[in-house]
Amino acid sequence: MRYISTRGAAPVLGFEETLLTGLARDGGLYVPESWPTFTSDEVRGLAGLSYPELAARVMLPFLGDAIDPDEFRGLVADTYATFDHAAVTPLVQLDHQLWLMELFHGPTLAFKDVALQLLGRLFDLLLARRNHRITVVGATSGDTGSAAIEACRDRSHLDIFMLHPLDRTSAIQRRQMTTVLADNVYNIAIQGTFDDCQDLVKAMFGDPDFRDRLHVSAVNSINWARIMAQIVYYVGAAVTLGAPERAVAFTVPTGNFGNIYAAYGARAMGIPIERLVVGSNSNDILTRFFRSGVMATAPVTPTLSPSMDIQISSNFERLLFDLYQRDSLALADVMRRFRASGSYSVAPNQLETAGALFAAYRADNDQTQAAIAETWRRTGQLIDPHTAVGLHAARMARSEGVVPDAVPMVTLACAHPAKFPDAVTAATGVHPALPERLADLATRPERLTVLPNDLGTVQAFILRHARLGEAQPRGNA
Ligand SMILES: *Cc1c(COP(=O)(O)O)cnc(C)c1O
Repeated sequence: MRYISTRGAAPVLGFEETLLTGLARDGGLYVPESWPTFTSDEVRGLAGLSYPELAARVMLPFLGDAIDPDEFRGLVADTYATFDHAAVTPLVQLDHQLWLMELFHGPTLAFKDVALQLLGRLFDLLLARRNHRITVVGATSGDTGSAAIEACRDRSHLDIFMLHPLDRTSAIQRRQMTTVLADNVYNIAIQGTFDDCQDLVKAMFGDPDFRDRLHVSAVNSINWARIMAQIVYYVGAAVTLGAPERAVAFTVPTGNFGNIYAAYGARAMGIPIERLVVGSNSNDILTRFFRSGVMATAPVTPTLSPSMDIQISSNFERLLFDLYQRDSLALADVMRRFRASGSYSVAPNQLETAGALFAAYRADNDQTQAAIAETWRRTGQLIDPHTAVGLHAARMARSEGVVPDAVPMVTLACAHPAKFPDAVTAATGVHPALPERLADLATRPERLTVLPNDLGTVQAFILRHARLGEAQPRGNA
């Protein structure tokens, strides 16, 4: 299996290098040179498998000979044992033709665990094999940092330093990070804003001495292996609801286009998927694109679904590559224009191709609250605001006939309601309880280091604590 960059000017890599590299050297994203596909009989054969076995069957074709299949099966079993539902990503029926797929049964109660729990283990395995270490450095406004921390904790070949803005995250979000007391996890509370944290991280990546000495790396949403791990649950849901005989539709609350691109991947592998519906919050760059063919950034507005408060959908480049018939020169040119001007548009025939599969709807805060309230009233299910954006979009797509009545619709439930208790309580009057594994979160001991918004101080702290920052062996001094 070989991976190529969407921009065509980076080396073609195997799975192992693709995983460890992340972003391609030419600024592009890696995609498979060609998609592995399942025959109808093979899809039928996936019915009834356990999640780990399904995951191994779906992902093994992407690995080439990078990892021994039995070793990979062991790693996958270990990964999904951290989830506290036996089905890992269970389907819950809400309505005659509407299901929720719960992706929040992992350690941090959000869908990112599905991929990141695997990614941390894959990194560790491949780094150990090369006797190599990395230092993961990241910034978080609170909602996604914990998934990266849980993915990296206790891994022998990496250390993680996560910056968050002091006193500007919710208590739950902070505690999900700071109560991880593993030796290789460092939470740094910066006396500043989230933007300050991001600027510090950018500056550290831009400092060649620091970067090379510590092998600084990111766990970001463009890594190919994250997409690969997310394809699994789309395949699983489709097979449960009748693939290969019956097609299904998915609605995905998304900002970065990562999760829904994985659904596109499942379809490319031969799973019958009739429609993919994007749910946007008020930061609706994707919905505007699917309506107009114009991708244009706008200022970010804070919403009730903060994990989608972004205005650049990095993973969209992977779809755009296909809309340009995999012409990497043309794609690189579009991305250059986008960088320079903040917008680009596609041709009518490209928009038509995209529109044949994708639809998109936006939910503002009021519509998000209404979807939480209505779902509670009609089904007795508490849903988080991201899921609510998805359900709003799913109902719109159904009522406009974009998804025919005969097609089962699955909406992705991307976070546990207890992760966003204020929005859920405001909409329903019910306070969502944390699941048992986190019930004592509020009383667990925390560990964090408060540092000023100063690059030199933060770098000195990381150099002092990262295993790669330790003084060189003294023998030859
Ligand atoms: C990250 C996240 C999303 C958005 O995922 P994309 O990568 O933008 O597709 C949605 N909901 C929750 C809860 C998240 O954590």
